[in-house]
Amino acid sequence: MPYKAEYIWIDGAEPTQKMRSKTKILADNEQPGIWGFDGSSTNQAGGESSDCVLNPVFMCPDPIRGGANKLVLCEVLLPGTNKPHPTNKRAALVATAKKYAKHDTWFGIEQEYTFFEGIRPLGWPDNGFPAPQFGYYCGVGADEIFGREIVEAHSDACIAAGLMIAGTNAEVMPAQWEFQIGPIGPVECSDQMWMARWLLYRIAEDFGVTATLNPKPVAGDWNGAGAHTNFSTTETRDAADAWSYIDRACKALGEKAALHVANYGDGIERRLTGRHETAPWNKFSYGVSNRAASIRIPWQVGVAKRGYIEDRRPNANMDPYVVTRLITDTVCAAFEATEKAPAKRAAAKK
Ligand code: ADP
Ligand code: MN
Ligand code: MN
Ligand code: MN
Repeated sequence: MPYKAEYIWIDGAEPTQKMRSKTKILADNEQPGIWGFDGSSTNQAGGESSDCVLNPVFMCPDPIRGGANKLVLCEVLLPGTNKPHPTNKRAALVATAKKYAKHDTWFGIEQEYTFFEGIRPLGWPDNGFPAPQFGYYCGVGADEIFGREIVEAHSDACIAAGLMIAGTNAEVMPAQWEFQIGPIGPVECSDQMWMARWLLYRIAEDFGVTATLNPKPVAGDWNGAGAHTNFSTTETRDAADAWSYIDRACKALGEKAALHVANYGDGIERRLTGRHETAPWNKFSYGVSNRAASIRIPWQVGVAKRGYIEDRRPNANMDPYVVTRLITDTVCAAFEATEKAPAKRAAAKK
């Protein structure tokens, strides 16, 4: 029996890339291979030479169609040379992950998002606003919770697809939700996050609802949507002086704060205002248990003096390929710089 492979890729939309997919019918013994698409319709090519290449990078069972059907996440390559397309942010992450493989970075990303029905957040009144934020976060009941059936269908689909979904919760703003992927390596976490995003959009579609990663979907006294990025290295987890590595990781992120914030998702100034559980986008800080800091060290990590830290700055609409690459690069380069320093001094003495 032939089966369906849904080829999924990330387009060239600006300032925030969107997801696209199309279906290939394959013979029962046929593996999904290279395919192509019309890049002139996705802001990835001009009309004269419009072909772009889809290269499968991550596959899983298709939990929507079931059976032998598959989801096939692809990276986009340039035709002819097979070099990464400029919109392909995955290739650079693969290189960085390889360069710093010995640090064994793990990532756990908390993806927040908001359901919309037409122009309004799901369940919001036709006129005016719902009651002010308080009971919605991890709430229960039809007056506080909107879209739980979609969230359940999505988390079941992620499990059936074999993704490392870690949990879900209702968020502070009504119609806003979160799911987490991880902890796993940077490439795995990012591939799975894109796959989980596609499943979210696709499943919400069947309910006549859209899921948006807009970082500030409603202006005013309503929480924005982020993508807190938790990470650790073999040093922060296992070293005898893990606590000093945690401190060095925070300081390294502070030194590169401007670079990180500029690449943590479009519209980050609208969300990182210093209110609604955020630190101001232009003022770096870190601290144990501090939800008003750029980087939070979870309380249990503060007690154990080892574990992971949480970068609270990334927007919901961030690209995990970019964010996990920057964090891996900044933190691992800083760790290696201090490792190398004593050797250099010894060499200079000779
Ligand atoms: P919060 O209290 O910030 O809402 P969550 O429970 O939503 O925290 O998310 C915490 C995330 O941290 C999870 O996605 C989990 O995968 C991740 N995590 C746990 N341990 C580690 C670790 N050692 N390294 C990296 N990420 C981790
Ligand atoms: Mn969370
Ligand atoms: Mn959250
Ligand atoms: Mn968090």
